[in-house]
Amino acid sequence: MTLDLAGLADLHMHSTASDGMLEAEELLARASRAGLRAVSITDHDTVAVHLRELDAGGVEVIPGIELSCDTEWGELHILGYHLDVHHAALLERLEELRQNRVRRLGRMVDRLLQAGVRLDEAFVDDLRGRPGSIGRPHVARELVRIGAVSNFREAFERYLGKDGAAYVPHANGLAPLDAVRLVTASGGVASAAHPAKLVEEAPESFFGELSKAGMRGLETQHPSHSPNQVKNCRRVAIGLGLLETGGSDFHSDADTENGGRHGGVGSTTVSYAVVAQMQGLSGRSSTCAGHAS
Ligand SMILES: [Zn+2]
Ligand SMILES: [Zn+2]
Repeated sequence: MTLDLAGLADLHMHSTASDGMLEAEELLARASRAGLRAVSITDHDTVAVHLRELDAGGVEVIPGIELSCDTEWGELHILGYHLDVHHAALLERLEELRQNRVRRLGRMVDRLLQAGVRLDEAFVDDLRGRPGSIGRPHVARELVRIGAVSNFREAFERYLGKDGAAYVPHANGLAPLDAVRLVTASGGVASAAHPAKLVEEAPESFFGELSKAGMRGLETQHPSHSPNQVKNCRRVAIGLGLLETGGSDFHSDADTENGGRHGGVGSTTVSYAVVAQMQGLSGRSSTCAGHAS
């Protein structure tokens, strides 16, 4: 029997369960229209979307997540694929991370108010009480909406980015090694998301350590990567024998129009063979995937 490995996969996108603007069903409808064979919805620090029944419309949905981690060279995000989304230790850790995230965003909102930004009371209440995963892009969109800044990029430059007036670093953030172990312990395959900056700035041994801890992939294909950065990331992936993953990191149509860090659903893809290889490395059997071919 030969394995059918035809088709493309977009392995990085966000739904309303984290800071994306579209419901999972709309993401899948777009994936279907784009002719994709598989997608992974990789919300920040939550697998909520994979805990419910999804009408995938013939597109294979790979359970996924994106964990935010801190390193001394800046943030690193760890993607997890094919993980057991009901794993108790995973869900427990994610709830802790959600609470950290709410606290951090609350402090950033306080700083914005102190800086004289006139945020809507309703927005602030909603942010503090929100059950799902929240992040800086939620605040950035609101800053654009109320006219405090003219675009997403300016929101990060002036307020929310590392050098911004309202920036608060992650409290009790997850270390990348812990994130890799968390994904692996729940049967998943870990891949470092959009790693170009860290490939440039961290010592060479950094990704080797992650690989030793069980990381199996590197997201070489990402809309924020320049051709030269793709080349540098590929060199690291090949050197460590890591799978090359990739995806659009879709968040919203507005971000996509501004160009840069995020693309539209299906705009960045990898071969379906990567999905199959990750499946082989994961602790899960293939029976759980909603395969519709
Ligand atoms: Zn990311
Ligand atoms: Zn992302």
